[in-house]
Amino acid sequence: MLKLYNTLSKKVENFKPIHNREVGLYTCGPTVYNFAHIGNLRTYIFEDLLQRVLEYNGYRVNRAMNITDVGHLVSDADEGEDKLEVGAKREGKHPLEIARFYTDKFFRDLTELNIIKPGVVKSATQTIDAQIEIIKLLEQKDYTYQNESGIYFDTSKLPDYGMLSGQKLSGKKTGAREEVVVDPHKKHPQDFVLWFFLAGKYKNHVLHWPSPWGEGFPGWHIECSAISRKALGQPFDIHTGGVDHIGTHHTNEMAQSEAAFGVPLANIWMHGEFLQINSGKMAKSAGTFITLDDLKAKGFSPLDLRYLYLTAHYRTQLNFTWEGLEAAHKALERLYAFINLPRPGEDWKKEVDKSYQNQFIDAINYDLNIPKALGIARSLMDDPNILNSVKITTLFDFDKIFGLKLEDTERGYPTWLTIAAIQDQDMGLKLKAIMLTREKAREQKDFQKSDELRKQIEDLGYEVMDTPEGQKVKKKVNI
Ligand code: AMP
Ligand code: ZN
Repeated sequence: MLKLYNTLSKKVENFKPIHNREVGLYTCGPTVYNFAHIGNLRTYIFEDLLQRVLEYNGYRVNRAMNITDVGHLVSDADEGEDKLEVGAKREGKHPLEIARFYTDKFFRDLTELNIIKPGVVKSATQTIDAQIEIIKLLEQKDYTYQNESGIYFDTSKLPDYGMLSGQKLSGKKTGAREEVVVDPHKKHPQDFVLWFFLAGKYKNHVLHWPSPWGEGFPGWHIECSAISRKALGQPFDIHTGGVDHIGTHHTNEMAQSEAAFGVPLANIWMHGEFLQINSGKMAKSAGTFITLDDLKAKGFSPLDLRYLYLTAHYRTQLNFTWEGLEAAHKALERLYAFINLPRPGEDWKKEVDKSYQNQFIDAINYDLNIPKALGIARSLMDDPNILNSVKITTLFDFDKIFGLKLEDTERGYPTWLTIAAIQDQDMGLKLKAIMLTREKAREQKDFQKSDELRKQIEDLGYEVMDTPEGQKVKKKVNI
């Protein structure tokens, strides 16, 4: 039976979906004012692993995610500028141009990390009407108050406000992300904005819409209440995000949805722990962060990062180091090499080893113990009593969770490029030219020349491998 840790009960619980074999899963998406950093991507990999484990258990997963393109201020406590406007000013563009650019890039990152794209993706700016409807309901039920800066949610009207983080109202801090900021317009420090007016420092806010309270724009949390309810109903099964969402964003989503509709928003709340760097948090707002492109520039494949993230449980912090990533890269290359072992001809068996598979299922089904599942895969590879064909078939089964493209490996390593796949930019054209000359040399069995050309390829910072489908190259890892 699948067991999952619920932040709400602080316990590992037996998982029982609301609708028999279907699961409603909601993920808080990115604020698209900058590149996603590899900390953000750790959270999306955790959520991908959750979806894969649910599917492995035979559930059909309906998954929805928002894209935050308005209303998320620099401080989670409703202070400072809108992050999208910060991005727009930085790049001299319209906020929606910024949003489009970073949203596209975000989805490219997800594809490269082999993350399954949620079935429903909606942005805040696409769902303004649904957000206004909820605010109207909250107003009718007397959960709101208005002042010159906007419509606020009055948290003192909800007796169990703060139950997710376990913080009593009196002791509530304003979010894990930022220092405590107290807005003088709030009746209580933990109250939050549902709708901002075009007033005060938001007088010139670029994005704004009409509403029953005048022109303005929504606060950050209301989009998730609107999008999740529309896509999945209420309550739905599982709501996910990073741990920084517990204290403010999820607490507020939960409060406003429950106040508006009288039922909980979601049954299970799951949170991925942070990626640290130099033992501090990696944050977009700090301006110093590592992106997937930074890793690729050093010769790593996005799947090396995915492998690294499989080695740490989602509820433990992980400190990022380049050495750690290099170790993950080597482990993944070993795994690919294993899949490419010479195959036994006639006794090739497409059979899964049941004993290892059962151990694997026990591991993933106990709150996604993926590091343990990876250990089981390693023991399987080292087991002298099992045929290679059975090992490989079993690893393909495990890869439904790991997502390391092991089956693609049969047709060549996914991290190595064919000549055709090399991009023309940077060193690409030069590299291609040398490889084409080397191809001719090899056809003519001029192995001395082939070796010389290999050396030239290495001098450009690449490694070359000869495979039945021709030469493949990969940038040398250089940390
Ligand atoms: P944001 O784009 O800032 O709204 O964040 C997108 C996702 O990344 C959210 O689920 C955050 O909780 C998560 N996140 C932010 N920083 C980190 C980090 N250092 N490690 C892991 N997840 C993070
Ligand atoms: Zn959210």
